[in-house]
Amino acid sequence: MTIAADSTRSDSGGRAARAAQVSAPRRATTVLVDLPGWVTADDLAVAFPALGDEQIEAFRQFGAERAVAAGEVLYRRQDPHSALYVILEGRVKIIDDFGGPHERGIVEYGPGVFVGEYNLLTGQSAYGSAVAVAPGRLIEVQPARLQELMAQEETLSELILRALLRRRAFIISLRMGVSIIGSSYSADARRLLEFTARNQIPRHWVDVEHDPAAEALLRDLGIAPADTPVVTWGSQVLNNPSNAELARVLGFAPAPAPTQVVDLLVVGAGPAGLAASVYGASEGLATLTVESTAVGGQAGTSTRIENYLGFPAGLSGSDLAARAALQAAKFGAQISAPAQAAGLEPREGMTLVHLSDGTQVGARAVVIATGARYRRLDLPGLADLEGTGVYYAATPEEADRHAGDAVAVVGGGNSAGQAAVFLAGRTRRVYLLARRDLAATMSRYLTDQLARHPNIEILTRTEVAALHGDGQLRGLTVADRRDGTRRELDARALFVFIGADPHTRWLQGVLALDRSGFILTGRDAPAAGEPAAGRLPLETTVPGVFAAGDVRSGSIKRVASAVGEGSMAVRLVHDHLARQLG
Ligand SMILES: Cc1cc2nc3c(=O)[nH]c(=O)nc-3n(C[C@H](O)[C@H](O)[C@H](O)COP(=O)(O)OP(=O)(O)OC[C@H]3O[C@@H](n4cnc5c(N)ncnc54)[C@H](O)[C@@H]3O)c2cc1C
Repeated sequence: MTIAADSTRSDSGGRAARAAQVSAPRRATTVLVDLPGWVTADDLAVAFPALGDEQIEAFRQFGAERAVAAGEVLYRRQDPHSALYVILEGRVKIIDDFGGPHERGIVEYGPGVFVGEYNLLTGQSAYGSAVAVAPGRLIEVQPARLQELMAQEETLSELILRALLRRRAFIISLRMGVSIIGSSYSADARRLLEFTARNQIPRHWVDVEHDPAAEALLRDLGIAPADTPVVTWGSQVLNNPSNAELARVLGFAPAPAPTQVVDLLVVGAGPAGLAASVYGASEGLATLTVESTAVGGQAGTSTRIENYLGFPAGLSGSDLAARAALQAAKFGAQISAPAQAAGLEPREGMTLVHLSDGTQVGARAVVIATGARYRRLDLPGLADLEGTGVYYAATPEEADRHAGDAVAVVGGGNSAGQAAVFLAGRTRRVYLLARRDLAATMSRYLTDQLARHPNIEILTRTEVAALHGDGQLRGLTVADRRDGTRRELDARALFVFIGADPHTRWLQGVLALDRSGFILTGRDAPAAGEPAAGRLPLETTVPGVFAAGDVRSGSIKRVASAVGEGSMAVRLVHDHLARQLG
């Protein structure tokens, strides 16, 4: 779809006026857009804000004005660290696959709009190319200066962050970015899809089982279907890359230098770790965060978090994760993903953390925020169906895949309830299976929604007795726990939400853990040499090492409490550092 809209106007949530060319009173901020159907005029106003004179002056303070010639490429797809440009005169077009076979114009900016993508702050690849289509004048602001500007200009910083996030959402919807070509039955293809989805990496999925374009594409690449999955990115073709390889190609923060010593090392980038990163970096600590899988943690897999303070309409976990990661980057925190902590060693005055690739990072203080991992059902054949019919997250990806199917959700907690409500709106039917009555384990607002939903059937005091299928789930046998009565369900997907075990194996024998493996902190932790009474809250049995969020023994398993503990941990890190000095 091609529309022209004026970013200075908004129709308060209504659809953008299709094909309506509207000129701003002072500046020609009109943009030519080829965007997804869900985009409203409000979205456009957020993504392409018309800058006022004062805002342009603020950019000028941190940048340099220069001329631009028609045809000049300001940045290309795959460039990391491109600059931000404010257009004073002329026009700049954002182009997908610039110079390639699938070249298409995405958006054209006029004077008074800034040009730039999410990578301005993260250092990752750009996904579009920016080309001047008319001679003009620009203000060019380099990334380091942009960080200074954002630290000093609060309102402008908010405007830039919101615009970059909305632009990233457009780019993801437009399927710009890497192409993943593979079979939907391949575990590696599923891994790559999950990794890109959870890390908000724009990508285009070509399913060799169903996409008619796949055959020709593979022929052009000279690759047999059996040799998939492959990932293409510009002219690069990666054969079944590991998550780490793909991340490297896309310019994710490089693995930490082997000799790196930081003030604060945060392990895990879920809500607790991201909060610790934001607070640590914003309070002047040289902060490094290592994340083994995907920024956002468990919360990043939640389709809608409805009870997080300040978001009355709810927000998706991936949105929360993207905002928090950008906020951490804005303050200068370095987030390295994927990077897995594999060991911890107290040293004189600091802690050494060993990463699984052999790297060691020294830190004056450590916040462990590694959360927990989903429990699996003990059923024959489960492992073979994971990723194709058995899932541990309910995202739009899985829902689209099973749009016409009946599906089952197992679990009695809020995650299971949220998944059931979400899937009920996108699949044919949902069976919710729980071992106990829901009232004991689920929030009232959710049990009410479930009871009202015509597509949901709730089966309490029920457990899964058998899975049927070979490569794909064909159905389930469930059993009533009271009398053993069995029933066959036509579910083609099973979503499992039955609790979690803490990510603490790498800490066994180093920190005190409770019987379930969660980290003991503060007064709950046994005394080791020093009296427990002298231990700071959230501090583990190793001085200077703190635990926050779901991984901590006794924690409340909520996004808000994880965020609260992450911020509190940084306050206590300052106390620890002061204690060391004095
Ligand atoms: C589907 C779902 C829906 C939910 N909905 C809600 C809701 O609506 N409201 C609510 O309040 N809560 C909700 N929750 C719970 C909430 O998401 C968690 O309480 C919260 O995410 C905990 O945050 P955390 O940072 O402590 O841990 P996590 O979110 O688990 O993050 C831990 C991170 O650490 C990483 N990690 C683990 N080990 C290592 C290692 N060795 N090295 C490096 N990194 C490592 C993991 O990959 C992960 O990214 C939901 C959870 C799920 C699964």
